Amino acid sequence: MTAQIIDGKQVAADMRVELKEEVAKLKEKGIVPGLGVILVGEDPASKSYVTAKERACENIGIYSDNNRLSAETSQEELMALVEKMNKDPKINGILVQLLLPKGLNEAEVLLAIDPAKDVDGFHPVNVGKMVVGEKAFLPCTPHGVIQLLKRSGVTIEGAEVVIVGRSNIVGKPLANMLIQKKPNANATVTVCHTRTKDLTYHTKRADIVIAAAGRPNTVTADMLKEGVVVIDVGVNRIEDATKKKGYRLVGDVDFEAVKEKASFITPVPGGVGPMTITMLLYNTVESAKRAAGIEVD
Ligand code: NAP
Repeated sequence: MTAQIIDGKQVAADMRVELKEEVAKLKEKGIVPGLGVILVGEDPASKSYVTAKERACENIGIYSDNNRLSAETSQEELMALVEKMNKDPKINGILVQLLLPKGLNEAEVLLAIDPAKDVDGFHPVNVGKMVVGEKAFLPCTPHGVIQLLKRSGVTIEGAEVVIVGRSNIVGKPLANMLIQKKPNANATVTVCHTRTKDLTYHTKRADIVIAAAGRPNTVTADMLKEGVVVIDVGVNRIEDATKKKGYRLVGDVDFEAVKEKASFITPVPGGVGPMTITMLLYNTVESAKRAAGIEVD
């Protein structure tokens, strides 16, 4: 079997068209979704992530309030800016780009964000709501994974899902989202990690394998059954002298061999990656609708 490639760029582009249309309709009602963005310091990777997020907002008509603060910014100044955004009716979502420079208390800053504007879905109030199945902002990468499965026509309900990785930003929220008694969930989920005794025992019986380990070749073809659906969240740099930058990006899955066994597979890059920013835009639009008293799914 040769797998159908799940094109994350295309799914993300389709979703952004839908969001752009939705934003245009909201504007007709006088509602302009707004995202407050805070970047502290000069980290080049963080700068490029933030620029990509701001550009994505602009492209679909979301207002973005962009704040670049120096690495010398104090905790008090940062907290005051978050507080100002909490009170600002033009801001529906607040994004503090992590990691913060040394000396700043990340947990304190994230806790200070109004849960109603926590479009990253990391605030404990939103995490708790997600676990008990209440309406909440869902964290962007796991939510993006579910959208990829749903929009590829993969049946999640009743599926045996094995997640490799238990981080707070990917593995744990994804497991919680997939076990909900809701559409595009109702799966039977196993979460594996470095203390799992026999990873292959679990992956071999899975209908859907989601790799989020951050290590190349964590999932190889011999670990999977024929026809499995494979979602690769991993992003790893490996040295490659043929590339201008001296490296290339690979996922956690041995893509070339696994694609001959799977029914669906996501590539890296171009799979889960493009979905993350799209889901941030989705949450910001959802937040604007909630603030305006418009019913959301
Ligand atoms: P993380 O915090 O480092 O967590 C990795 C998890 O994988 C841990 O739970 C670890 O187990 C487990 N693990 C590592 N090696 C393993 C192995 N050989 N067998 C079984 N379990 C193993 O990473 P993360 O933040 O979740 O990110 C995971 C990957 O996704 C990274 O490559 C990251 O760059 C990528 N990512 C991509 C996006 C995107 O937008 N595409 C977003 C977020 C993350 P222990 O808990 O036992 O240590």
